[in-house]
Amino acid sequence: MARVGFIGLGNMGGGMAANLAKAGHEVRAFDLSEVALAKAAERGCARVGSAAEAVAEADAIVSMLPAGRHVREVYETAVFGSAPTGAILVDCSTIDVATAREVVGQARERGYAMVDAPVSGGIAAAEGGTLTFMVGGEAEAFGRAQAYLERMGKAVIHAGGPGAGQAAKICNNMLLGASMVATCETFVLAQKLGLDPQTFFDIASKASGQCWSMTSYCPVPGVGPDTPADRGYGGGFAAALMLKDLRLAMEAAGSVDAYTPMGAEAEELYTRFAEALGGGGKDFSAIIKMIDDSWTAPERVGSSPPPGVRLG
Ligand code: NAD
Repeated sequence: MARVGFIGLGNMGGGMAANLAKAGHEVRAFDLSEVALAKAAERGCARVGSAAEAVAEADAIVSMLPAGRHVREVYETAVFGSAPTGAILVDCSTIDVATAREVVGQARERGYAMVDAPVSGGIAAAEGGTLTFMVGGEAEAFGRAQAYLERMGKAVIHAGGPGAGQAAKICNNMLLGASMVATCETFVLAQKLGLDPQTFFDIASKASGQCWSMTSYCPVPGVGPDTPADRGYGGGFAAALMLKDLRLAMEAAGSVDAYTPMGAEAEELYTRFAEALGGGGKDFSAIIKMIDDSWTAPERVGSSPPPGVRLG
């Protein structure tokens, strides 16, 4: 079994590192948070005092960090130069395509093989080892990363060259964000037109309006399979993270001059819900409560809500 340096043991990385340890790898884990480090140690990882220590003598390095600036900083200051050049570098964070390509380029210049491997699936999938990985990188680097990723996920897909994993991730999530908003407004309209939500679900899920946001993740409580809507919109995929991904998608769209009006609208609506109305901690399907005007915002300080939005 191999020695893996793991950096970033938060909501996602904690479960992923534990799964690598469960698979028999020697996992040297580092995070800035003492709580995260203690949890990782309880779950079979060896806690170390710095990122450089985690990567020294490693066969593989896996990172799961919040954003592009953290990834760049960790790789530039602690991985490059400290990790053996024979190690395969695997960044699983969701970050912007440009930074992903830049860091992979730097890795290559220093003699490392690296892939970007963002995930689909939330905290439960990270815990259960059932994530889907979308991987960008050269074929040889992909082949080397695959063995580790398979221990943390149910599907590992080679999306293309460097940055292609991040491109696939944000395109998928732009579609998800836009389709969730469309699903929410459709159910609100159906109800206002006198349709029973369950009856409409039964019809639309067998008709041409069918989509994942409705059939697998219905935003209406009590309709369709069990979803965060049935638990007060707790857990699931936070609206703040959906907003992060939509912003990355808009940034990427701007960089290649792509016209993405639905993505832009979804970004604007999630900005309003997650930031102006304080819904960032709720599951992203809770945006239906802004659309049907029933949202009761958490205690807010300062300015009044944006025009057109009534607080319950
Ligand atoms: P998180 O904030 O829970 O975890 C990030 C961890 O990185 C934290 O524990 C933090 O202390 C650590 N960290 C930050 N800077 C560091 C540094 N310099 N050195 C070492 N550790 C450092 O975030 P998360 O929910 O685990 O998400 C991680 C990534 O996965 C993000 O890019 C996110 O967009 C993506 N993602 C999250 C989900 C989800 O449902 N949470 C789903 C898919 C993808």
